[in-house]
Amino acid sequence: MTLLYTDPRFLLHETGRHPENPRRLQAVVDHLDRIGLLQACAAIEPPEATVEQLLLVHHREYIHRVELFARQGGGQIEADTVVSSRSFDVARLAVGAACDAVERVLAGQAPSALCLVRPPGHHALPADAMGFCLFNNVAIAARWALRRGVERVLIVDWDVHHGNGTQEVFWNDPQVGFFSIHRFPFYPGTGRAEETGGPQAPGTICNVPVAYGTPRTQYLELFQTRLTELAQRIRPQLILISAGFDAHRADPIGSLDLEAEDFARMTQVVLQLARQFAQGRVVSLLEGGYHPQALAQCVEVHLRELLQVTAPAPQGEENHAQPPGNASPER
Ligand SMILES: [Zn+2]
Repeated sequence: MTLLYTDPRFLLHETGRHPENPRRLQAVVDHLDRIGLLQACAAIEPPEATVEQLLLVHHREYIHRVELFARQGGGQIEADTVVSSRSFDVARLAVGAACDAVERVLAGQAPSALCLVRPPGHHALPADAMGFCLFNNVAIAARWALRRGVERVLIVDWDVHHGNGTQEVFWNDPQVGFFSIHRFPFYPGTGRAEETGGPQAPGTICNVPVAYGTPRTQYLELFQTRLTELAQRIRPQLILISAGFDAHRADPIGSLDLEAEDFARMTQVVLQLARQFAQGRVVSLLEGGYHPQALAQCVEVHLRELLQVTAPAPQGEENHAQPPGNASPER
């Protein structure tokens, strides 16, 4: 069983002629519906995030600024980010979905959840919108998990862009590991391999910059080996995915030559680590992906993997839950 968060209200964040537009999400939902995958999930209606949840990452003045900007009709809130009159409510709904998914997965309602939300979040900073993002959905979800008693969280960001907002939030936080594989040099300019965490949290951040033209096989090998190293250091009790699909070869913005099936492989790697350390608990949040049909295919293969792992484990399979804190690193 996988919890699936989607809602027609996510289409109300209107951005005009912009790559991050409602047609992306509509294409995904239509596709999943057509192939019967929507029906295979447990659909959950997302609640709006509380201000308390937004404050886990964002400054009160910034939250007010976004609300006021939207209420006054919206426009361009920063160079790349467009806001419409409903965007504040929609962005709150995205955060609400992420926190609710964490809550339910921690409560054991399902091992995994997929939040098909807009706007994306991983570039959003505590006091600024950036790169199509208003609130940092995944960062708030991680803090919400800590608030719920989880001791260590791992965020896996395979969006083609570096998750600079998420990295900034957890730079000096020993409880949250952050892994990002991304095209480099590229927007937003951060994410060098030397960026590994602040003095209170050395080695909790792993950046894997990948040059344009890197073969898929090499990308996947880097993903698996570097992520496994970080997971063994962090020993997360919950894994969150910043699931952007703009590294797909057809993507008009990112284009790192990946095929849809590569996202299935990466999902398998994350699920394997989740079984090893985190009782299989994974919450995945949509980030980028700007070719609607390619995005729909990528989400399909990603969701198929999430659903497979939730099937009853065959006898003898290593899928038993370990109490938090007792999962020891193997090497
Ligand atoms: Zn992106």
